[in-house]
Amino acid sequence: MIVIMKPNATAAEIGAVIRRAESLGVTTHPIYGDNRTVVALVGDLTRVSRESFNAMDGVNTTVRIQEPYKLASRTTRPENSVFDVGGGAVRIGGPEVVVMAGPCSVESRDQIVETAIAVKEAGAKVLRGGAFKPRTSPYSFQGLGLKGLEYLAEARAVTGLPIITEVVTVETLPMVAEYADILQIGARNMQNYGLLHAVGKTQRPVMLKRGISGTIEELLMCAEYIVSNGNYNVMVCERGIRTYETSTRNTFDLSAVPVIKHTSHLPVVADPSHGTGYREYVPAMAKAAVAAGADALILEIHPDPDNALSDGRQSLSLTEFRKLMADLRRVAEAIDRFIDGEPGTKPAVQEEIAQVA
Ligand code: PEP
Ligand code: MN
Repeated sequence: MIVIMKPNATAAEIGAVIRRAESLGVTTHPIYGDNRTVVALVGDLTRVSRESFNAMDGVNTTVRIQEPYKLASRTTRPENSVFDVGGGAVRIGGPEVVVMAGPCSVESRDQIVETAIAVKEAGAKVLRGGAFKPRTSPYSFQGLGLKGLEYLAEARAVTGLPIITEVVTVETLPMVAEYADILQIGARNMQNYGLLHAVGKTQRPVMLKRGISGTIEELLMCAEYIVSNGNYNVMVCERGIRTYETSTRNTFDLSAVPVIKHTSHLPVVADPSHGTGYREYVPAMAKAAVAAGADALILEIHPDPDNALSDGRQSLSLTEFRKLMADLRRVAEAIDRFIDGEPGTKPAVQEEIAQVA
């Protein structure tokens, strides 16, 4: 249930609502929106009567939230969630479509720095790269671990790009959080509740990927675990699901984008690389994802895709990536959004790169 306060409600009136709810044994989450303050009540609501809250000073009305995810629901917060990553370097969830790009795995210092420079030059805003890799086979490359995180930090120092990297266990979270601007929770860990609790206790932005057999509702319930632990800086990512179709690695469920935008206020990221599994299909689905309303894209790119240590088949070359970025700008403008700067402006980063490289 949410208690919607009047626009001019005082801090004392909001405090009284919180105290009454907590005296009834429910957990409260005040949500301060642009136009209104809402106090979300979660937990066992059997002793809570709407009428008694409706009668309190400063209360406008109360609404029962139908969805099982309460804090992630758009009913609770009608406006989009927008938050900063990398200390304000990038804003996720606003009018800019944020492109995150980089290799599946960090392989060497040179590989990640070369890629990072290409990412920045092309106008993408976040560098991706896996240091801890959750691989289907235990015999596949598992990532460089701490060394990979150090190389990512070097690439950030050279380009200024914030970094997104995957955290696979609760034990390694402190180490990964020391380096990552965005913590990625992979598809295989969507329902790793211990990990969801742990990242929920931080304030670091999190990108939660949809599991291969996860429904949209299950994905949002997993986001709810993070948000209900106090971390509202969550974006959810459509990366394809398992179906009977074998022509693509996964079935990229693009309709998840408008569905989630409708039912939740959380920013939505689309990953056409894992979504399709083949680089020749990535540009079309990346453009489609922007057209469908994704707030961000995450793309796998590599200086030498055919020799990548993981996911080379779905990785774009740096040249293919540059071409795609130019096309994506036009798609974004067609729906009154933009990529890298105001509509119509071109990236002015070449000189900056020359200075720091
Ligand atoms: C990845 O981003 O490289 C990755 C492992 O993705 P997913 O968890 O979606 O498989
Ligand atoms: Mn990958």
